[in-house]
Amino acid sequence: MKNYKKFWKLGKKEFNTEIFDINKSGELIIKEGNYQYNVKDLIKKFGTPLEITLPFVIERRLNDLFEQFNRYIKFYNYHGRFFYHYPMKVNQNKEFVLPIISEGGNLEVSSANELWLVKKLWEQDQFNSKIRVICNGPKTPTYLGLISDLKARGLHIIPIIEDENELAYFTNSKNGKISGDLGIRVDIDVKVKSHWDKKFNRFGFTSQQILEIGKIKNLKLLHYHIGSQIEQSKDLVLLLKAAAKLFAKMKKNNPGLDMIDIGGGFAVPYEKKKMYPTEGVVKNIISTLSAISREEDIDPPDIIVEWGRYLVAPAQITIYKVIHQKAIEKGPATKWYIIDGSFINDLSDTWTIHQKWHVTPVNNMNAKKFSRVWLAGSSCDSDDKYTAGGHYIMLPAPEEGDPQEPQYLAVFDTGAYQDALSSHHCLLSSPAKIIAQNGLLTLARKRETPDEIGKQFGW
Ligand SMILES: *Cc1c(COP(=O)(O)O)cnc(C)c1O
Repeated sequence: MKNYKKFWKLGKKEFNTEIFDINKSGELIIKEGNYQYNVKDLIKKFGTPLEITLPFVIERRLNDLFEQFNRYIKFYNYHGRFFYHYPMKVNQNKEFVLPIISEGGNLEVSSANELWLVKKLWEQDQFNSKIRVICNGPKTPTYLGLISDLKARGLHIIPIIEDENELAYFTNSKNGKISGDLGIRVDIDVKVKSHWDKKFNRFGFTSQQILEIGKIKNLKLLHYHIGSQIEQSKDLVLLLKAAAKLFAKMKKNNPGLDMIDIGGGFAVPYEKKKMYPTEGVVKNIISTLSAISREEDIDPPDIIVEWGRYLVAPAQITIYKVIHQKAIEKGPATKWYIIDGSFINDLSDTWTIHQKWHVTPVNNMNAKKFSRVWLAGSSCDSDDKYTAGGHYIMLPAPEEGDPQEPQYLAVFDTGAYQDALSSHHCLLSSPAKIIAQNGLLTLARKRETPDEIGKQFGW
C-alpha cells in the first residue's frame, strides 16, 4: 500500500505539516496534543468554504523561536536580548494577535488603524504593560496623534523615521510630546532573491544619507525590511552584515543606539520542498552580530525580528468543496475541478502574485485513482483559477460506482496576508471561519448572508 501520509507531505516538521495526519478512512486529521480534529466532521458542522484557524500553531512556533534565539544567545555568550515583534499587517484578526502577545510577543504596526486596535487592547488591559510597539508606515496626523497619546499614557512605542519629513517632525523640539525612543529605517543596498525584490525601494534612507544625518536625539533602533519570502538564507545574513556595519558607524554619533531590527522575510515552504531551517539562520544571526560587535568594539545590540508569514501562515487552512468537474481538451491537466469559493476573493495572492499553495484532499486521501487537475473558483472571472504554475495538482478521481460523497480539498498555509486582502467579486460570500484550540471549536466569522453582502454595497 502506498504511504499516503508521505505522498501528501503530512507529518513533517520541515514542511510545517507536523500536526496533520491521515486516518484509516483516508481523511485529513489535525492533531493538537491529545486533541484531534477530523476535518470532514468540521465540514459537516460548519459547511464550506471554511477557514480553520489554529492558534496553538502560532503559540508553538513563537515559543520555538524564543527557545532557539535564547539557546544561541547563551551559546555565543551574546550580551544582547532577543525581541519578537509581530507585524500586524500579516493578519490583524484577534485570534492571531492575542496568542502572540500572550506568549510574550511584541507588535509592529503599519497604520493608524492598526495602532487604534492596539489602543483598544491596551484600554482593556489585554496585555502586559511591558509590551513594545514599533510604528512603521507613513505617519499621518491621526497616526502621530495616536502615537503621542499612547506614549503619554505609558505604552512603550518606538516610531520609525522613514523619510525627511518624519525626521524633521520627530527631531523638532516643538513637538515635545513625541519624546522618547526613536528608530530609523535604512534601505540596505543588498539585492536579495525574493518575489518582492524591486529595483527601486521607496522605504527608508540610504546608508549614506543616514551617516550624513549624523546625530539624532533619542535614536535607539536601526530598522530594515527588504523583502518577503526571501529565497536563500545567505541573503538574510548578507543583509544583517551590511546593517550591523552601518550600525557600528552610527553608534559613534548615537551612543544610545542599541537595537537592530532585521524586519521580516523568512520564507515559508508553501510548496513543501526543502527550504532553509530556522535553527541555522538563528545561529548565523547571533554569530554574525557577535563577530561584528567584537570587530567594531561595540556593545552587542538587542535583536528584533519581524518574521510575519513565518509565524502565522501555517496556522490556517482553507477548505473548499468541489462542485463540478469539467474535461480539459488539451493541456497538462485533464480536468477542471470547480470549487465553491474563489481564489480571487479568498486567496487573492493566487491571482496577484501567483502564490503557490500545497493542496490536498480532505477525504479519499487513499484513493486508488487520481486525476491531474486545475482548480477553478466560482466567480465568473477567467483569472479565478489555480493551476499550480502551469502544471497541475493531483486530486482523487472518483471511480464509477463510488459512493457519491463530495470531494473536499484543503489549501495549506493560508494564515498570512489573505484575509485583509479578500474581496467580494461576483458578491460571493467569504468563507466561514472557525478556531480550533484546546479541543474546542469557536465560530469566529459566520458565512455572510446575501443581505449582509448587499448592505456593504448600499442595498
Ligand atoms: C510586511 C512587513 C513584515 C513582515 O514580512 P514577512 O515577509 O511576512 O516576514 C515585517 N516588517 C515590516 C516593516 C513589514 O512591512
